[in-house]
Amino acid sequence: MVFSPPSWVPKLQSPPDSVPLWQFMLDDAYGRRPLKTSRNPFTCGISGKTYTAQEMVDRTDLLARALAKEFGWQPNQGTEWDKVAGIFALNTIDSMTLAYAVHRLDGIVSPANAAYSASELEFQLKNSRAKALFTCIPLLEISLQAAKAVGIPNNRIYILEMPKEFSGNNTVPFKTVGQLIAEGDKLPQLPKQKWEKGQGARQTAYLCYSSGTSGLPKGVMISHHNVISNVLQIKTFESPCRDARPPEEKTEVALGLLPLSHIYGLVVIASANSYRGDEVIVLPKFELQSFLNAIQTRKIRTLYLVPPIIILMAKSYQACSKYDLSSVATIFTGAAPLGAETAEDLQKLYPSWMIRQAYGLTETSTGVCSSSETDIWFGSSGSLLPGYKAKIVSLEGVEITGYDQPGELIVQSPSVVLGYLNNDKANRETFLADTDGGGRWMRTGDEAVIRVAPSGNEHVFIVDRIKELIKVKGLQVAPAELEAHLLTHPAVADCAVIPVPDDAAGEVPKAFVVKSSSIGIEENDRMVAREIAKHVQDHKARHKWLKGGVEFIDVIPKSPSGKILRRLLRDKDKEARRQK
Ligand code: AMP
Repeated sequence: MVFSPPSWVPKLQSPPDSVPLWQFMLDDAYGRRPLKTSRNPFTCGISGKTYTAQEMVDRTDLLARALAKEFGWQPNQGTEWDKVAGIFALNTIDSMTLAYAVHRLDGIVSPANAAYSASELEFQLKNSRAKALFTCIPLLEISLQAAKAVGIPNNRIYILEMPKEFSGNNTVPFKTVGQLIAEGDKLPQLPKQKWEKGQGARQTAYLCYSSGTSGLPKGVMISHHNVISNVLQIKTFESPCRDARPPEEKTEVALGLLPLSHIYGLVVIASANSYRGDEVIVLPKFELQSFLNAIQTRKIRTLYLVPPIIILMAKSYQACSKYDLSSVATIFTGAAPLGAETAEDLQKLYPSWMIRQAYGLTETSTGVCSSSETDIWFGSSGSLLPGYKAKIVSLEGVEITGYDQPGELIVQSPSVVLGYLNNDKANRETFLADTDGGGRWMRTGDEAVIRVAPSGNEHVFIVDRIKELIKVKGLQVAPAELEAHLLTHPAVADCAVIPVPDDAAGEVPKAFVVKSSSIGIEENDRMVAREIAKHVQDHKARHKWLKGGVEFIDVIPKSPSGKILRRLLRDKDKEARRQK
């Protein structure tokens, strides 16, 4: 049974497949809200620094000219894979200008999670074969270590400017994006990009990292057409409600707190909003006071959040009530499940807010489904966006033909990405044949059921995760990555990492470890467990730390083919918690 968007959702018009993303986003010819009537696309939530939409267009052009000179990159020349720029930075008002300047040269942007350690960044820079690195002062030390390890010279490291609160007053011997833009003013115009028909559906715009259904983080090749499709899918889904608003509310102010290195920040927040002429208030980091202050002073209407922040808001009602949050109309949550009870708790505190949930993946360029302003059902991730088709397939591989029956969610959409970089095995496992001429189908690795809401619309409920992935505060943790790292510790003979529930973070990693025979019985388990946990803390980003603990076990349960039986370990952990 193939599920489609409800009948109230307008049809998706063919997303253009021969135009570079920057042009689609910044040129009035491609259906965006005209630059003249758009709000300033990005405003710093700390300093208030901002540029108009037209200034963003001009700055993108000047930056592209400067980068062409710096790197010798030219549009229409060479392959995009020789023009990969890494971005390892906190959110800034110039992050998207930089991305579009790279696209203007037919280059690829590979954004890395700002929480990464030097070795994690090194992995991504090496795997993506980045030729240059854009960072910010708070992350400069880590950037220098990683860049040195992969051979990116210091004169290929650049700084995205941040408010003083983050960068201090010190100057560093690296060119800033602002300086490059000033230099661009004295440089010749760039030649026009001459794109062949369909080039946008073949050419990678972003190389984001995701572990997908199993294994280590992989480069996800997201084409220009994929991003354009998702922007239009979101815009079209929202249009019946947006179009009905009074003229002064047709554009809005939205929160840009979630990392622009993650697909949710990059596409939903930074792209779909600015295409609609909205203003995104950029915050580099979550900190309750500055978050509340930004909502109050900038009169933010839509908050894009992840469940842990919503939980914190519900728990910190007293602190929140000191601020005027009356501008808020909508909360969007995604990247991890938001339980119906948490939504209800928040709704009791803020009865007028629309608390909406959406679901998506890096591999679908973000949005798959979303609740709408007129059809909110707590616990559900809403209805399919236009251009999507979905199937539910039982764990035994049988296609489900009714409601309320769980199975893996399989989707088809123009936003389904090109695939994983240099990884045929993962591509074969994840991307399935086009059976009906509508494009390849994709396995999400998530368990879902479809239910019919009181409104009569079909809703998607994500009920569990089949794939290995752990989501901590909405951020990915790949068990295979932690397992490989744990095995480098002398006390670890074998191990498996699973997610365990956590009130604040949603879930956190826990390691089951078989102690190596070199560890004497006299050695205290608690001490060894602490050492193993520290081994992770010393080398991995904070969200990957083993907050779920380390438990010793005699043998890791595995299938005859050697696959870790994670479900058994999850059940074992669940049972132990139940008995506590
Ligand atoms: P990422 O590629 O980092 O965006 O991670 C995608 C994964 O996050 C999905 O496959 C889900 O497992 C999880 N996820 C995203 N949104 C939701 C949601 N609304 N409810 C439950 N899980 C979600």
